[in-house]
Amino acid sequence: MADPGASATPASLRVAPTLGLAEAARRVWDVIAVGAGPAGACAARELARAGRSVLLVDKSSFPRYKVCGSCLNGRVLSALEAVGLGALVEEAGGVVLDGLRLAAAGAEVVLTLPGGAALGRERFDALLVRAAVQAGAEFLPSTRARLGVLGGPTGSFRPLVLHQGGDTESARGRLVLAADGLGAGLLPRALAMTAPASRIGAGLIVDEAPGFYRAGCIHMACGRAGYVGLVRLEDGRLDVAAAFDPGALRHLGGPARAATGVIAEVGWPVPAGLAAGPWRGTPGLTSRPECISAERLFVLGDAAGYVEPFTGEGIAWALTSARALCPLALRAVECWDPAFPALWAALHRRALGPRRLCHATARLLRSPLLTGVLVRLLANAPALAGPIVQALNRHPAFP
Ligand SMILES: Cc1cc2nc3c(=O)[nH]c(=O)nc-3n(C[C@H](O)[C@H](O)[C@H](O)COP(=O)(O)OP(=O)(O)OC[C@H]3O[C@@H](n4cnc5c(N)ncnc54)[C@H](O)[C@@H]3O)c2cc1C
Repeated sequence: MADPGASATPASLRVAPTLGLAEAARRVWDVIAVGAGPAGACAARELARAGRSVLLVDKSSFPRYKVCGSCLNGRVLSALEAVGLGALVEEAGGVVLDGLRLAAAGAEVVLTLPGGAALGRERFDALLVRAAVQAGAEFLPSTRARLGVLGGPTGSFRPLVLHQGGDTESARGRLVLAADGLGAGLLPRALAMTAPASRIGAGLIVDEAPGFYRAGCIHMACGRAGYVGLVRLEDGRLDVAAAFDPGALRHLGGPARAATGVIAEVGWPVPAGLAAGPWRGTPGLTSRPECISAERLFVLGDAAGYVEPFTGEGIAWALTSARALCPLALRAVECWDPAFPALWAALHRRALGPRRLCHATARLLRSPLLTGVLVRLLANAPALAGPIVQALNRHPAFP
């Protein structure tokens, strides 16, 4: 399938493998992180910085496109600052965000949105992987991992099966981190649960878009089929990321028509590239695995549970879960304790909180009527949005 972001991705973003499949299989790693999105790359970097041998594996080559609104809120920027990567977004040309234009059911409001930036995921994720490599992690892209059978003479490692092209090898990690994103393929299927009637994500990047979509402002159009977010990236392209009801998607005949419908419904100009695609989709967005740990394995990031993306917190959750996990991961590398799964479940819950705001927003967005009422309310009293924006940007305290 064509890559929705490929046309303008500079070759300079390429992150080369630091070792080959055979070498990855020869060594016993302290940690193997599966998935080089923000959760896996951040955890890999932190653990490498702590002196552990880390293998970071991803099925894609980098840079790679990811369906995402590409908006980094204040929490993301604080989390990066806390791990010494505070300059990353600005140096990469991230566009400072100052506003959110929200439209639904004939109403529209522009809210002040301080403390965020837009940066394309090809660039952001590639830079995080590069930072992990600079910290000492080894990187094996274009390699799909699946769990092997627990083994070793003393059960002292967790085996993985790695597939690269036509080659297959086994790799051994004292600890495996499953940071493999939405859909969580590394976990046994039965353990990953998608909420009934969950919306489905879809996205693409458009090379040319009307000036209406000004840089620095997130545009959010809410309609009957779902909602569509549009934001200018650092290179002027327009990132389009949407969440649709599966039924509406089927009825309308795909994401291009659904997005066109939603944008036209609120009276905004439809970018020409929308119909041509290529669109990329996601599995059901609201999901939660039954457990987020197994022997010598911790799950983090989207793979550990996700709620619809309207409030744009996924990357913050990914980085937060990676940071929360690292002290426990360091202990687990030394010696696995059967108490660790319960400990990680509790730590994860505490680090991310109940995500009530996101669940409530997801529920509200199911009703175009209620969304319209909210937008009208905010248009009359924009100050009401202040506490919500502050809550989304607040960074959880870490030692
Ligand atoms: C429509 C939409 C809009 C969004 N907008 C925003 C936003 O504006 N701001 C925000 O903060 N968040 C947003 N999000 C959420 C955000 O994209 C995710 O929360 C974030 O990417 C999670 O990071 P992660 O590292 O857990 O997973 P991912 O970024 O998904 O990374 C997982 C990685 O694992 C790899 N992988 C998967 N399986 C395997 C395997 N078996 N072997 C090897 N590698 C594997 C994949 O290739 C991928 O690189 C949005 C999400 C959607 C769907």
